[in-house]
Amino acid sequence: MYVCSKERMTDKIRTFSKFGDAGHGGITRYSLSPEAIQARNEFIRRMKAIGAEIEIDDVANIYATLPGSAPDAKRIVMASHCDSVKNGGNYDGILGVMSAMEVLETVAAEKIPHKHPLTAMIWTNEEGSLYPPAMMCSGIVCYDYLPEDIRAKFRYEDMMASKSILDGSKTFGQALDASGFKGDKKYRLSPDRYLYMFETHIEQGPILEDNGKDIGVVDCVLGMFNYRLKFYGQTTHAGTFPMPKRRDAFLAASLALCYLHEEIDKLGYPELVYTTGEVVCHPCVPVCRITLIFPSMPGMRIPRYWNRYSPL
Ligand SMILES: [Zn+2]
Repeated sequence: MYVCSKERMTDKIRTFSKFGDAGHGGITRYSLSPEAIQARNEFIRRMKAIGAEIEIDDVANIYATLPGSAPDAKRIVMASHCDSVKNGGNYDGILGVMSAMEVLETVAAEKIPHKHPLTAMIWTNEEGSLYPPAMMCSGIVCYDYLPEDIRAKFRYEDMMASKSILDGSKTFGQALDASGFKGDKKYRLSPDRYLYMFETHIEQGPILEDNGKDIGVVDCVLGMFNYRLKFYGQTTHAGTFPMPKRRDAFLAASLALCYLHEEIDKLGYPELVYTTGEVVCHPCVPVCRITLIFPSMPGMRIPRYWNRYSPL
């Protein structure tokens, strides 16, 4: 049996955790930021060192490939992302990249015979934290396979025009041009050249850990719905206006949130999860806006929940 190198993997974990180190155990490594480019360069450096061939497609997805013994065999790809959310986890995404690298490094070091070419890959802008939406470049690559209704709202030009949440004058397309990682469309992952894809991902909940399991297999993905609710109040003098006559938008929003959470729990679907994603309550503006996020699985069931929830 072949075994990966714990030392080599630990060295990768230590090295990549420096790129975008937020200083308190977390990572801020927005897609195509200087920190993400450090991670990309490290990926390329290490993959070139084992003789992998590097290809970069037109949306900066990077592919590092070790040839197999059958020249015409399709590739087997292992991929994840190297970008993170703000103060993200040290393993989210990058674990899948590092473990893909480790597989190729082990195959190269041990000279393991293999028929199919093996590819380690980085997806660009998977989190979408700086340039929304999430899963932008995997979406672009998979465009032909998206359901019709999603495809209608997912245009390449709109993705390139996506504005930075930190600096609204910059777009994803500009960041892509400036990154030096804009390659050729012909390298995009496609069924013509690729046979299988694997992704290792850190668990993002406590279930495996609670059950004492090291690893599990994902059998579905989350469906997500966002709802924006607005509460209107009234601006009055903070000191002179009597309490019974006040209409405080934030108070109404907080009471409504507590009520909604109780009512949703009463529906009794343990797989239905939800959170309050955003509260906007600016001083002197008598409006409070909250965003409820329902990531749930499987996605098909969400409208059924919502049908019971909407009359509330
Ligand atoms: Zn991830």
